[in-house]
Order: sequence, then C-alpha cells, then structure tokens
Amino acid sequence: MSDFLSNFEKANKNAKRLSNKILIDGKLISPSTNNKIDVINPSTGENIGEAPQCNKVEVDLAVKSSLNAFKEWKKVPARERGRLVELGARKLEQRRDEIETLLALDTGNALRTQAKPETSASIELTRMFAGLSGEIKGENYPPNIANTLHYTTRDPIGVVCAIVPWNAPLFLTVAKIAPAIVAGNTVVLKTAEQAPFCALLLVEIFQQELPPGVLNVISGYGEECGEPLLSHPDVRKITFTGSFNVGKIIAQKAAPKLCPVTLELGGKNPNIIMSDADLDIAIPGVIDGMRYTRQGQACTAGSRVYIQEKIYEKVLDGVVDRLKNLKMGNALDENSDVGAIISEDQMKRTLHYMNIAKENSSTKVLHGGNQKKGGEYQEGFFYEPTLLSGVPVKSPVCQEEIFGPVACAIPFKSFDEVIESANDTPFGLSAVLWTQNLSRALQFVEEIDAGFVQVNQCVAPRANVSYGGLKMSGLGKEYAFDSMINHFTQSKTVLINRGSSNIDE
Ligand code: NAD
Repeated sequence: MSDFLSNFEKANKNAKRLSNKILIDGKLISPSTNNKIDVINPSTGENIGEAPQCNKVEVDLAVKSSLNAFKEWKKVPARERGRLVELGARKLEQRRDEIETLLALDTGNALRTQAKPETSASIELTRMFAGLSGEIKGENYPPNIANTLHYTTRDPIGVVCAIVPWNAPLFLTVAKIAPAIVAGNTVVLKTAEQAPFCALLLVEIFQQELPPGVLNVISGYGEECGEPLLSHPDVRKITFTGSFNVGKIIAQKAAPKLCPVTLELGGKNPNIIMSDADLDIAIPGVIDGMRYTRQGQACTAGSRVYIQEKIYEKVLDGVVDRLKNLKMGNALDENSDVGAIISEDQMKRTLHYMNIAKENSSTKVLHGGNQKKGGEYQEGFFYEPTLLSGVPVKSPVCQEEIFGPVACAIPFKSFDEVIESANDTPFGLSAVLWTQNLSRALQFVEEIDAGFVQVNQCVAPRANVSYGGLKMSGLGKEYAFDSMINHFTQSKTVLINRGSSNIDE
C-alpha cells in the first residue's frame, strides 16, 4: 500500500470511530441530540463523519462532570498534576502518526509541511507546561504590619470553557488545556465544527492519564453550543481563539458574571522589506510569513507585503519564482506543500475578496488568482497561492482578514511612511521587518502596533514564546509560563497575625 493510502486509511478509521461522539467523564459517548454536522475532508469534499450538534443539554452534562472533577483535581499536588500531564504527552508521542494524519484529514492542512510540525509543536507545548507545574506559586511580602505574615497564593479558578477554531485545532487546544489543567482547573472544550476529530482524539488520548472529568469535549455551533457553555454559571474562565466578531460577543456574554476572558483573535499583518534587507532570507520570508503552505489560514499570515521601492520588482520576481515551485495537492500526500482550504464557506470568502480585487483596474495578479478545478482538485477546496499588486491600501482586500491564500504587495518610499500605513488597521497581532540596520529594527519594535514582532525572521508561534495581539487582535498572551499564571490562576492575599511571641513566658 502506498504511504498516501495508508495515511488515509489510518485517519479515516479514527474519523469513523470518533464520528458523532463527545467525551464526558473520560468516556466517548453518543450525545442525546440527534442533530449532527457533516464533517468534510477539504481535500476531496467527501464526508468523513459527523460532529454532534450539541446544545444546552450536553453543555450541562459536560460542565457538571468538570465541576465534580474540579473538587478533587485542585487538591492534587501541582507536581503530581504536571507528572500526569507529562504522561499524557508521552501517550501523544506514541500515537503521533494517528494524530497527525487525522489532523491533515480534518483540516486539509498538508501532512508534511503543516500537520506533522503542528503535532510536534503541540507535544512540546504540553511538555513545557507539565514541567512548569512546580512554578505555580505566589509571593511573600515584607512584614508591613507588626507580627503579620503577608503572602499571596496562586489557586486554580474552576471550570474553564475553551473554544477553538479549525485552522490549527491541535496546537490551539493544547495551548488552552495544558496550562489550565496543570494549574488545577478542569476544562470543557468546544471543538470547531469544521475540524472536530483531531482535537477529540488528542483529548481522548490525554484523558487516559487523568481522572475522569478533568477534560470534557463537546462539539457544535457557536450560538447553540458555545454560548450556553460560556454563559454557564459554573464556568469561571473563558479562553477563546477565533475571529474578532465572535470574540466581541464572548466578551459581552462574559461581562454580566465578570468572568475573565482570554481572546486570541485575527490580524492583518504587515511583512515589511527594507531596501537594505538580506534578500536571500527576506524573499523566502514572504512565502513563510504569509503561511502559504497553510493556505494563508493563519492568524499570523503576513498578508500585507510592504516592499521598499528600490527593490520592489526584484523581490516580487523572487517571490513569484518560489510560489511557482509550491506543489498543491491532497493533504495526506506527503508530496504536497500546500493543502486545501477548510470549507466551501471559506472558499467563498476568498473568492469574494478576489472579486473585489479584480474589479479594481489597478490590480495585477502576479501569481495564482484562481480556484483549482479538474483532476485531483475537482471536488476539494483548492485555491492557488496568490500574490497581488496594485490593490489600494484602503481596499477591504488590504484592510480585512481574508484568512485565505491571498497577499497584497505594497510599495513604499520611506520607513516613516510604511510604519504609518502598517499601523493603519484596527488589528495589532503580528509584524515582521527585514533590515540590516539595527537602529531601524529597534525603531520598528518601538513604533509598530503589534503583540508579536519579529525582525529578520518570521517563525510560527511556539512553546515558550509569549504570543497574543494588541488592539482588536485580542486580550492576553498564550504559549508561555505567564499565560498559565495570568489566565488560569487566581490570587488570594493572606495576612496572618501570629500574635505576641511571649505568650508562654
Ligand atoms: P470563528 O470565530 O468563526 O469560530 C471560532 C470558534 O468559535 C468555533 O469553535 C465556533 O464554533 C465558535 N463560535 C462561533 N460563534 C460563537 C458564539 N456566538 N459563541 C461561542 N462560540 C462561538 O473563527 P474561525 O473561522 O473558526 O477561525 C478563524 C479566526 O480565528 C481568524 O480570525 C483567525 O485569525 C483567528 N485565529 C486567531 C489565532 C490567534 O492566536 N490570535 C489563532 C488561530 C486563529
């Protein structure tokens, strides 16, 4: 059997097994609702199973299970919780080929370039949080009141609601569940309706090392399942990754119960190349930065490519040459560099923005610009990696998050001009500058409005790199120790007056 077929068989078997299942109290069960959401393989358009369309009934069941588990889990010593999470990470390692193939099947993200690295990064992130379990500690204060011991604690909060999107469902799930449970909380995870299976498999494997109910998983639509979950009175913390529009609803729904919220939202990120940049790294940096090999479906995608006028044509030629070499194909085929867009809806979104771009007479399609049809592409959702020039910077194509494989090249004259234009967006997630001028690089760091800033590289967020957005791109940071402490613990201030020391005299 070819590698491709064996990958497909492995993934399909897990998808069928997990179809129409939720995970409650440590067991995969069928929900009480008969309503289901079709889950589609983006590479072929074929149905690979169903996700339960959960509602308030399953929400109540999952929250009850998590609340019960919390009563004991919070008492487990932190190092022991870390040890159990490390055991979970080992289990993930042992079954990584199942996880990464299901991830590619579920999301359409290419196995070699995306699903494998995402699985590795997820295991590493789990391990990192497990190892930090002993660091969850408060502070001692100097005795400002006579005879008084003064300190703070760091305690778990309770039941956490975690809601994730489909674009990197494994890594984003781990970024929430690992720090939450190491810190002593329990979690109800709502998976993304488009890609529910790989997150469910991950938690199913992980949960084997944990007491039942520490992690519960449900699936469904935002309004019907996500909203009752986050509004549930026993949910005391919400952690969300997704779009700004939904993030805003979540903040509003959390407000009446003063529930703390972490929001990791969208971006429209600048990737800026100065004329003194080392083009041997900056040109591939445009391709990497745009996350073309994830079909541009990344919050960090550098979709506004600013190039200083002197080197504009040279950089565009270099980028286009490289785009020509990207092989698009079935996500489970290890020869594919680029996979498929997640769904028909997301394809329509890309087509919508491309129509706006093409209506503009100044737009030039430098590469791509078409949906791929015919042959192996016929039934899947494939769109060519696309680079445009001539799109006005005020066009929605340059202002709004497309979350598809379309980037706009924008020439600029001066550093001041490009900073002003790069900051002229309601978003503030990530930003990249390519230059060999140290002074410029430091000025960029000072002046750019972004929560994740890189110079002369554009690596993806990873373990121990604190990541999050400014402005409309979010609230709070993830992936590093501070996220565990800031998002998943609460503090008590304790004053203990020891009384007089001469009571026995
Ligand atoms: P989305 O906001 O439509 O959905 C995300 C999740 O929220 C899904 O599970 C969905 O079911 C749920 N949801 C939808 N409506 C809801 C509601 N009213 N109440 C509760 N839950 C609701 O986003 P998407 O299309 O799945 O993902 C793409 C977005 O995610 C992009 O904007 C992207 O930039 C963002 N994203 C951000 C980061 C980051 O770290 N900043 C990472 C990945 C993706």
